[in-house]
Amino acid sequence: MIDIHVHFGKFRGIETNIPEIIENLTQQGITQIGLMPLLDENASNLKDSHSILKKYYTQYETQIIPILWVPPHILMSEIETLMSEIPYKIIKIHGYLHHWTKENIIRIIKFTEIQKLPIMFHTGGCKHSEAGFYMRICQTYPNQKFILAHGRPIKQSIKIMQLCNNVLTDTAFMSIDDLQQLVDKGLQDRVLFGTDYPINKYFYPDKNPIDWYKEQIDEIVTTFGIRMRIKG
Ligand SMILES: [Zn+2]
Repeated sequence: MIDIHVHFGKFRGIETNIPEIIENLTQQGITQIGLMPLLDENASNLKDSHSILKKYYTQYETQIIPILWVPPHILMSEIETLMSEIPYKIIKIHGYLHHWTKENIIRIIKFTEIQKLPIMFHTGGCKHSEAGFYMRICQTYPNQKFILAHGRPIKQSIKIMQLCNNVLTDTAFMSIDDLQQLVDKGLQDRVLFGTDYPINKYFYPDKNPIDWYKEQIDEIVTTFGIRMRIKG
């Protein structure tokens, strides 16, 4: 099983390294992880986190689906340089942490369309990062695959997914109620299993992170039997 939404690095005082993540999740039956860093507001750690991932990628090549999280100010030449060192499979855009305009997103799509790379949008938090903000873009680029991470708010995510076959979502911090709504609408084939691990260490400090992870699998997979799909 794939967990498409995993982070490494520092998050509000908690740091988790790649070998530890892989060891922990492999023990839970996870065969591959969509792995990305945790960028700061200025993306000042973009290059450093790329170097860290590069260091481990060769060692864990079969287990890692590398995700390149880009800030709005990144140059296409920079993306190309990073991609020449790690074969990133997904581009991540975080519209809550970084300020993205539609024009800037389209600039990235011009590249990802040719490279056939899905774009993962963080959704939720503010109007500029709600799923609905991406509706027109998802409609305009039917050949581009989009993943609405977290699927927030769920009603907007469902609406886009019903209109656009090129749109998927992931279950990272998604409530069972929201997931139920996706299943009720018959959209389960476009729901990817994702957890945002190890961010749970911060939000649930009293809970053993591995127990938390086991619960995610139990609740989601056993309850709904979600099929996990991820294609380029
Ligand atoms: Zn995340």
